[in-house]
Amino acid sequence: MSCTLLNLCEYDTKKLVKIKSVKLGSLKWTLNGLILMFIFFMMLWNKEYQEYDLVVSSVTTKVKGVTKISIPDSGEVVWDVVDYSGPSPGKNSFFVGTNVIVTKNQKQGNCPEVPSHEKLCQTDKDCEKGFSDQYSHGIQTGACVKMDILRKTCEVTTWCPIENKKNPRPALLASAENFTVMIKNNVRFPAFDYIRRNILPEMKDTELKGCIYNQYKNPYCPIFRLGDIVSEAKENFSEMAVEGGVIGIQINWDCDLNHFSYSCLPKYSFRRMDKKESNQTLFPGFNFRTAKYSTVNGVEQRTLLKMYGIRFDVMVFGKAGKFSIVQLIIYIGSTLSYYALTTVFLDWLIGTGCYSKEAKQTYTERKFEVIQDREECFLCVSFVDEDKLRVVKKSRKKRLQETKPLSFHQRKNDLAGMKTLMSVLQCGQSRSEPVQNGQSGGLIDEDLPRRQRSGQSTDTPLLEASQSGCPAWCQCGCCRPSDILQEQLCCRSEKGHCITSSPLFSTLVVSRSVLETALLYVDPLAELQEGAQLRHGAYAQFIRWRFGDSTPRDAIPVIPSCCIWRIRAEYPSPDGQYSGLRLNQAVPSQPEFNR
Ligand code: ZN
Ligand code: ZN
Repeated sequence: MSCTLLNLCEYDTKKLVKIKSVKLGSLKWTLNGLILMFIFFMMLWNKEYQEYDLVVSSVTTKVKGVTKISIPDSGEVVWDVVDYSGPSPGKNSFFVGTNVIVTKNQKQGNCPEVPSHEKLCQTDKDCEKGFSDQYSHGIQTGACVKMDILRKTCEVTTWCPIENKKNPRPALLASAENFTVMIKNNVRFPAFDYIRRNILPEMKDTELKGCIYNQYKNPYCPIFRLGDIVSEAKENFSEMAVEGGVIGIQINWDCDLNHFSYSCLPKYSFRRMDKKESNQTLFPGFNFRTAKYSTVNGVEQRTLLKMYGIRFDVMVFGKAGKFSIVQLIIYIGSTLSYYALTTVFLDWLIGTGCYSKEAKQTYTERKFEVIQDREECFLCVSFVDEDKLRVVKKSRKKRLQETKPLSFHQRKNDLAGMKTLMSVLQCGQSRSEPVQNGQSGGLIDEDLPRRQRSGQSTDTPLLEASQSGCPAWCQCGCCRPSDILQEQLCCRSEKGHCITSSPLFSTLVVSRSVLETALLYVDPLAELQEGAQLRHGAYAQFIRWRFGDSTPRDAIPVIPSCCIWRIRAEYPSPDGQYSGLRLNQAVPSQPEFNR
């Protein structure tokens, strides 16, 4: 038989154990209900029933505001957006100058270098012609010239005079905090083909023109006061204005495009992007240089501006969600495994005995069907001089009588069954003897325990064997030798009287009327025959008496040699052949005589 091919035509399903318990049942439904509520809550909370798309956006900005500033050496000038915006800092950003160093009327020529890194000189020898490095303002001419009354520096060819000022405090354009910026943000969610902008369609022109963004009062106005932006980023504008910096304006779109719960509004938040402590950062703030060129009398001049200011980076995040049956099914599918928690918890509750000790016992016995591998064959031994049943592992080297027990178990007597049997016996003494000599016993034969389908493989005739001396392992004096180790078992563990000498043995095990009643008790219409059937019935009766109605760990009960031979003497096989103890069959869950 091809194993692999047959396996393809098989389906395995789990065996379940149903425990009828109000407590466990209600606990199960309570837990399942809680899990269902949790799943439902999480579905609504995270909108798990939606499919999502990320935002695609564009941003344009327009700054407005004018201020009057007082520049050293130039006096007061009015600056508008062209003056303080500088060159465009790039996509989604705008710059507002807040402080400036102006160096006017620079011309190409020679002038003393500014001593930025201790580059003072004494004589021309200290200066190298043509030298320049990353700190130089120009190219050295090789001369050492006076910079001021005390100091001399190397002369350089460059734009003269060289810029030599520190950034002013307070910032010259500190009033830039009153400037406003309008941010126009168009967003699109391609998956849903949905377009929206931060100037909401419900806003009126008049409303829009006068408004200024305020987190609480006017959260959807797209016009922002710079001072508000900086203070919402938890910064001080006038301090930040001195060195400059970078502020991030985040626009977050969290859109729900369902008809029943539509919402799609921008949410603004602000934070400083660069490190704010100027004394902790080596090069703090943000600045750049720019120049205005002019020609005076044919000579080119320039006004150099070192601009400090705040760069505002507009960042747009967002996603839009819309109900999707596919997403809902996927979500429901992904949550099904949570219900296993109920099983895990209840199994744990029962398994640890926290619920009830009895339930644990019953449950474990019913839920786990212990099946031994052929190699792991367990036998059950009941000695008449011992209170408990022994479970032993089948040994290949030791005889059963001497094999050490794995465990001891309390005998579970089938007293009720025995009582019924006895009462049937007492009442049914008058029934006729069911002796039939037909050949129709095949069916019944199948029902009988195979492994007890008789004894030893020896061909020794019964009478001769009874006269021979008993083997060394026998403690009762009635056993017979056998070559099979598992058959070398006495009814006793220590020397004493044999169990077959007990009057109960004669009544319960070998009495013809009891055996017939017992067999008919199992199969009321059985046609009882001589020999094999009664012999097997006697084995079954002995097992029921001495082992109870089930053996621990499904071990196979073994009948001692003395008892086997006593039963065989009573109901012998006509040809003197007995099949003996059979262990190589699948282990039954209960002794077969109970069927
Ligand atoms: Zn014996
Ligand atoms: Zn014995």
